Amino acid sequence: MANKKEIWTVQAILNWTRQYFLDKGVENPRLDAEVLLSHILEKERLYLYVHFDQPLEDKELAAFRAAVKQRAARLPVAYIIGSKEFMGLDFEVTPAVLIPRPDTEILVEAAISRLALVEEPCILDLGTGSGAICISMLKNLPAARGTTVDISPEALIVAKRNAAKHQIEQRLTFYQGNLFIPVKGQKFTAIVSNPPYIPEGDIPGLTPEVQQEPNLALAGGEDGLDFYRRIVQDGRNYLTDNGFIAMEVGIGQARLVADMAEKTGYYKVSDIIKDYGGIERVVV
Ligand code: GLN
Repeated sequence: MANKKEIWTVQAILNWTRQYFLDKGVENPRLDAEVLLSHILEKERLYLYVHFDQPLEDKELAAFRAAVKQRAARLPVAYIIGSKEFMGLDFEVTPAVLIPRPDTEILVEAAISRLALVEEPCILDLGTGSGAICISMLKNLPAARGTTVDISPEALIVAKRNAAKHQIEQRLTFYQGNLFIPVKGQKFTAIVSNPPYIPEGDIPGLTPEVQQEPNLALAGGEDGLDFYRRIVQDGRNYLTDNGFIAMEVGIGQARLVADMAEKTGYYKVSDIIKDYGGIERVVV
């Protein structure tokens, strides 16, 4: 009997996968199918459109099927392909770190613009995760030095790899530990952070994708504000005279965090900045 082999073209596999993802409740089924396939083929997405009729080789098909299986189990695309674009830079990500979000670019831009005229800014990034915030700041501020802290050793491994990838290791220091503890006695021009801010009770309602991100990077205690309390309380001891703190906050938290800071009598809230969806996202 002739061995009849299944032929899958780029177009046919994309159509099939789109429908499969749709059935599994994946939010952007077509886009995700294209991103995964272009990753497997090591090509740009545009390549797929001009090679619709190209048949896939067995090896490609097997690798793509494995990726599709992971995505159908609602693993985020960034974890499957191992990278995420942030501030125009490519960052390695693993399930040990939160996937950088576009909204966090607002925090980075706000901090960069405030440091542009400072001669040799020192930046402290609390809970650095992949390192995306601090590394993209250093890329944009050639005279700046950075210090990153994370409680997760696994996250720091990823952050170090990203620092090497973007060639800023000489300007960046890494500490494993709890918030300010590893940097006792040091002063910084800017403290930046995207701390865990999801209220405990909201965690079960997160999408299956977000639930596969590290709980350590999401859970902010009962009201989600635990880390802001600690950063606001201790931060003043780690700031230079003209230093500032810039933090990402969750929905409905900006005014609470701003009040918390001003009540200390030490800080003055200079800005509350909205994200692309009109939500107050960054407090400076
Ligand atoms: N932005 C993340 C989300 O929407 C939360 C990140 C965080 O807790 N800092 O799920």
